[in-house]
Amino acid sequence: MGLPLVGAKISASDQREPHPEGIAPHEVGAPRAVGPAGSAILFGGISLDRRRFLRTANLAAVSAMVSGCARRSGVRSALDPAALAPVNLPVTACHLPPVHVSEDRVIRTVVGLRPHRRSGFRVEREQVGSTTVVHNYGHGGGGITLSWGTAKLATDLGLRGHTGPVAVLGCGVIGLTTARMAQDAGFAVTIYTKAMPPETTSNIAGGQWYPASVYDDETKVTEAFTDQFLAAAKYAYERYQITTDPRYGVRWMRNYSISRTPIAPRRPEGRTRIVSGLDPLLPEHRVLRQEENPFRIGYAAQYDGMIMEPPMLLNALITDFRVAGGRVVGRELKSTAEVQALEEKMVFNCTGLGAKALFNDDEMVPMRGQLTFLVPQPEVTYAALFEDIYMFSRRDGILLGGTHEEGNWSLAVDETTVKAKLKAHAELFGSMKEC
Ligand SMILES: Cc1cc2nc3c(=O)[nH]c(=O)nc-3n(C[C@H](O)[C@H](O)[C@H](O)COP(=O)(O)OP(=O)(O)OC[C@H]3O[C@@H](n4cnc5c(N)ncnc54)[C@H](O)[C@@H]3O)c2cc1C
Repeated sequence: MGLPLVGAKISASDQREPHPEGIAPHEVGAPRAVGPAGSAILFGGISLDRRRFLRTANLAAVSAMVSGCARRSGVRSALDPAALAPVNLPVTACHLPPVHVSEDRVIRTVVGLRPHRRSGFRVEREQVGSTTVVHNYGHGGGGITLSWGTAKLATDLGLRGHTGPVAVLGCGVIGLTTARMAQDAGFAVTIYTKAMPPETTSNIAGGQWYPASVYDDETKVTEAFTDQFLAAAKYAYERYQITTDPRYGVRWMRNYSISRTPIAPRRPEGRTRIVSGLDPLLPEHRVLRQEENPFRIGYAAQYDGMIMEPPMLLNALITDFRVAGGRVVGRELKSTAEVQALEEKMVFNCTGLGAKALFNDDEMVPMRGQLTFLVPQPEVTYAALFEDIYMFSRRDGILLGGTHEEGNWSLAVDETTVKAKLKAHAELFGSMKEC
């Protein structure tokens, strides 16, 4: 059994079968919008159709009652109309609802291979015979985050002075955002791709806005790469903020980064430019006082960010691409000779891990990640990151992650890891107390 995910696999065990995408600023994101219009909601134990409910209920009375509850709990109730908004940050950490972690709440486990490139992503122009190739691949654990940003860098490199149609290789988040930017610039675009969503790595991503695990060693990246990285991060950060149509699945969420040892306040001194350059993109970063820290397992810091729900984002991007007249051709390119033979003489290479074989890039390596989902908990509107585990609350489930296995090409679910991650998350959320 299992959903048709490729570059990804769903476990079948017992019919039930995640940075931070790394470990973010001190490291560590999830407001939860509630079900779509038309979904059933429970009110006083009675299931009502949401549209009918909103039409007939006395909204003023309901919202007064709900906001009273919200004030008491510090989080918004699923009944609060404001919980449908893309902004739902907790008022205080004290009353955060814990995630309920147990094996019988598992709904699926998926595996994906992050397209890791040791020196960081490659956005570069290359002449291959009479064809101009602009590379845009190797985003590791930060491709959803950086997508619009490196799409901007790549299209700026390729499209200036170009006339004629454009090809994009790959239909993950990088190919789709690059294709959309080329369309917006007035070009006719064809995507050639081996696989379509939902069968891409991009569909597997957790979707937290943070460019984590994008390069190996912060002290070894070049100044030129640092410039590209920070420019891409800033552009994408601002672009996602104005992506307010709910169909993109983008919203603000608060991240709690938890540590067993005290957390020092963030200071610019002694940090590399590539890390400290992200500080302005992580607002409201502060260390919690112990009396406002509900995670009794250790110390906590918070910062605000966004989450992009990949299945929604990719669907919306494909729809936009098609509405703008884009063409998709199902085809795997097997060699640079095949790339040169395409009728388009401007080609954007957005093949992710596929670039390793297609363009002989030895720096590309899979970074395997496995995510286990629990039954959704709409009242959980935050993300938590602790040691090597993380939790994001999404519409399609509570996502538990935290595996980064370099060089591992396996898409099979590892049940031992499922159990270990469940245990670690149970310990984290089991430690929570109101303060
Ligand atoms: C477990 C996990 C959690 C993650 N969490 C986050 C997160 O929270 N935030 C974040 O920003 N990122 C996250 N990521 C990283 C993110 O998923 C990737 O960086 C991103 O998906 C890369 O996008 P892409 O378009 O380059 O690759 P892909 O989505 O793999 O797309 C590549 C496309 O190229 C096609 N292709 C490949 N080879 C060829 C070929 N030869 N010819 C034609 N087509 C080809 C493929 O079929 C596919 O359509 C996570 C990843 C994993 C695995």
